[in-house]
Amino acid sequence: MLHNRVLIVYTGGTIGMVQDESGSLHPFALDRIYDAVPQLRNCSYGIDSVTLDNIIDSSNMTPALWVDIAEMIERNYDSYDGFVVLHGTDTMAYTASALSFMFKNLSKPVVLTGSQLPLGMLRSDGRENIICALEIASGRQAVIPEVCIFFENHLYRGNRSTKLSAENFDAFESYNYPSLAKAGITIQFKDRLFLPMPTEPLQVRKQFDTRVAILKLFPGIGPEVVGAVLGAEGLQGVVIETYGSGNAPTDKWFIDALDQAIRRGVIVLNVTQCKAGAVKMRQYAASCDMDRIGVVAAGDITIEAAITKMMCLLGEYPGDKEHVKLRLSQSLRGEITTQ
Ligand code: ASP
Repeated sequence: MLHNRVLIVYTGGTIGMVQDESGSLHPFALDRIYDAVPQLRNCSYGIDSVTLDNIIDSSNMTPALWVDIAEMIERNYDSYDGFVVLHGTDTMAYTASALSFMFKNLSKPVVLTGSQLPLGMLRSDGRENIICALEIASGRQAVIPEVCIFFENHLYRGNRSTKLSAENFDAFESYNYPSLAKAGITIQFKDRLFLPMPTEPLQVRKQFDTRVAILKLFPGIGPEVVGAVLGAEGLQGVVIETYGSGNAPTDKWFIDALDQAIRRGVIVLNVTQCKAGAVKMRQYAASCDMDRIGVVAAGDITIEAAITKMMCLLGEYPGDKEHVKLRLSQSLRGEITTQ
């Protein structure tokens, strides 16, 4: 008798791709996954699957598809112990972050995984990834109330993850938060690192405001580029990728450009370009002006989490920028380290 049940949400990505005559990889139907991993047909827990209307290379991921994925999980929430989302690696950290903010009071595991080589290839990393992701999502050993990424033996908090390699099987990293579990002969879960189990029922946020931008600083960036981004029609929020602990040029033109945007109601969020560590405004004089004019510090959030959180909050609280700013500076789903 099968007790635990897992739903696979198949979106595409390398894991299910096949090569065409020219050698390019294209997503293919979920049946091929069962052919490549026949063990899935007779696991000790029940597996069902659903597929996006169009399976995609994750470079084509959109907020509308995040809503589709979230609704597939929402519709089936009570019937399954956990969910595995098969997803391309390129935007997996964005989707994991977005889903984490969409699901409030999540009490079941949602595990995203994929692979660097298609399942059909002999050396594919996909087989191990999918089997471990299913085991974790089944909740048989530990129930993780989080959106996570499982990749190459590590389970990461989704909104802490980032893709760091286009080459290695070990493609993801979580620089500012330890992994939630590690798979060896057994899967070692670090329960004390999980988010607390919620007591309220699941709620799903489905509104995104995409009138946002990411502005990455570099030595030599000029007023034209900064002005073009900050002057984009309808812009509601911008994530600026600053240096080190949140530092930026102190040139008057730069601070004035930010100041004018903030006065027009644009939210400016300070995220560091560094992979590890946090924004600490006023640690250096090079961030004091930004603090003074109302730039929001985002702590040690990843860029993927920052932009998805901004889109989600702007969608959830349209017209209440002060509240959005407050929430951006706080941890909602464990995406920022708080003391
Ligand atoms: N381009 C692929 C995708 O993100 C890469 C992968 O899956 O690894 O869909």
